[in-house]
Amino acid sequence: MRADKPSVLLLQRVLDCSRPGILTDIDGTISGIAPSPDAAFVEPDARDALRELSQRLALTGAVTGRAANDARKLVGIDELVYSGNHGMELWRDGELQRSPLALRYEPEITRVLESIRSTLQFDGMLIENKVLTASIHYRGVADPEKVEAAILVELERLIAPGALNITRGRKVIEVRPPVELSKGTSVAELAAEYELDGLIYLGDDVTDVDAFRALTKLRSEKGLEFHSVGVRNDPTPQQVIDNADAMVDGVQGVIELLQQALQQFDRKES
Ligand SMILES: [Mg+2]
Repeated sequence: MRADKPSVLLLQRVLDCSRPGILTDIDGTISGIAPSPDAAFVEPDARDALRELSQRLALTGAVTGRAANDARKLVGIDELVYSGNHGMELWRDGELQRSPLALRYEPEITRVLESIRSTLQFDGMLIENKVLTASIHYRGVADPEKVEAAILVELERLIAPGALNITRGRKVIEVRPPVELSKGTSVAELAAEYELDGLIYLGDDVTDVDAFRALTKLRSEKGLEFHSVGVRNDPTPQQVIDNADAMVDGVQGVIELLQQALQQFDRKES
């Protein structure tokens, strides 16, 4: 069984709360890791489970580095809340809210991307402008290490110290506004707004660790049933393993955990 016992026990504690929620990362969590962002798709079983859960939970949502609109199209459930661009925007009920603070950096991000496009050309490298942030993907190149180094050197040349943040994920380098917004600030805000007393957050990468830590902090300060579940993929960042309250194996483990949640609701109702 891939949704192991500790994760199921945490889930039970969350679902016993009066206002439980589930928030999930997308790529590598409910969608397998794809060669390019466009090739990703959400596993149908994960989508079905999330759709049903959204009828029963106080909050069901996706929290991602993708743009919120893109996330909504990919997941395809309008009843969910979508926190996109690492906590800098929110799509809900057909409306997109962008952080005005982050939006101020849009021209600078565009300038950097245009320059990168003209100076760095590698087969298989993909530049994604997500308005508030940008991603430079190099999963598809022949020599990822060489390309990663070249991208970092070029970004360092283009960006004045502190003008934008540069972060790294799975074969992707991201350029973000230097603002204190992250998946962590987003889950904390959503949890407060929806008055959650229980919350499971699922994620597989270093940017999810911000959310894991936010939940740990809220749990210890306020005694809420907030727990993180890390997703084992190959390779799994050590920070994910170190900070998650429980682990599941891959997208299949996530699906099993979401289906467990539905079964627990069914059991309560029968
Ligand atoms: Mg991910």
